[in-house]
Amino acid sequence: MKIFVVNAGSSSLKYQLIDMDNEQVLCKGLCERIGVEGSCISHKADNGGVYETETPMPTHSEAFEAVVYAMTKSDAKVIDSFDEVSAIGHRIVQGGSIFKGSCIITPEALNDIDELGALAPLHNPAHVLAIKACIKTFGTEKPQVAVFDTSFHQTMPAKAYMFPLPYKYYTDYKVRKYGAHGTSHNFVSNRCAELMGKAREDLKIITCHLGNGCSITAVDGGKCVDTSMGFTPLDGFMMGTRTGTLDPSAITYIAEKENLTPAQLNHIFNKESGILGVSGVSNDNRDVVAAAKEGNERAALALQMQRYQIIKFIGSYVAAMNGVDAVVFTGGIGENDANLRKDVCANLTYLGAFLDAERNTQRGEVKISTDDSRVALYVIPTNEELAIARDTLALVK
Ligand code: ADP
Repeated sequence: MKIFVVNAGSSSLKYQLIDMDNEQVLCKGLCERIGVEGSCISHKADNGGVYETETPMPTHSEAFEAVVYAMTKSDAKVIDSFDEVSAIGHRIVQGGSIFKGSCIITPEALNDIDELGALAPLHNPAHVLAIKACIKTFGTEKPQVAVFDTSFHQTMPAKAYMFPLPYKYYTDYKVRKYGAHGTSHNFVSNRCAELMGKAREDLKIITCHLGNGCSITAVDGGKCVDTSMGFTPLDGFMMGTRTGTLDPSAITYIAEKENLTPAQLNHIFNKESGILGVSGVSNDNRDVVAAAKEGNERAALALQMQRYQIIKFIGSYVAAMNGVDAVVFTGGIGENDANLRKDVCANLTYLGAFLDAERNTQRGEVKISTDDSRVALYVIPTNEELAIARDTLALVK
């Protein structure tokens, strides 16, 4: 059975076609600049074929048509007809408190995803556009499934997800912690339990998803009990361009000093802060590491701050779960930056967690702790697309 996995933004469309018989990616690609001049598709088949072209995509419908052409007719085609595709799985950023798991997209579910746009204005409206475009392009026969970034975090207890604000902001506006990257935390914590040869229900696992966006989750007995991202993916610890947690009075102070609107503040905290804001170099970890090596002190400070904050989050989740069996690193930085892992793990020895320096240099899925470490340390590459395809398959079966 072949599953088409869609990750749609307002002007972009990332996709993969996965053959679930062997979980092989048949092709993947990206449509960019949807709705503006210069729309283009870049498509890669597993056999090495590449199809790249500029073609008008005024809406997501034309983007899906371009994808179908790439998959079925281009030089990099991988199937004869889209009829071979059994179902479509969509990544959805915000499922609020409504969606506690993945679901088949019914008209009611689509309506709920649309209404949750109030909590994720940059994402959910784009997902709705993409789902509607799929219905237009592929009809209603082809089942569509929604897989939410938030649903894995729905098991958090109220003491973890509530903010200490007047209660009416929770009841009136649903302001609470929802978390993000849930599909990734679920995937790598599951895989961690498999690698340890134990049931996830018997383990306390801390998963560190470190990419452009970063979050850490405490998974106790297979359930998320706390996560660092909050009402939006801005919360937690510093990321490529995002602040993470701040003292709220720093926000009101800056707003008053510079006479800033909420939209301007949002831009500063989401796009101009974090590693980029402190280093002044880049949001990309590799650039900042290179600058620090050349003696740039602000770059070095940004890297130190991020490591320190990661260490503190891990420690707080050990406390929250009263122990930990494994810590997992994933995401572009978590999977690739051995020095970051070394620096973070240097402050986990109080737990009896010991990094094996040689294993830490290996690539891919690898246990990086020593054999006598009381806490297992792992690098586990995340695969959100495969997780979406698995959920889609399970629901349409
Ligand atoms: P996103 O959150 O956009 O999915 P990724 O998970 O791809 O991001 O992570 C991107 C980050 O990973 C960037 O900061 C990049 O510099 C970092 N990264 C990727 N490869 C390496 C590497 N080999 N060494 C250090 N950092 C890396």
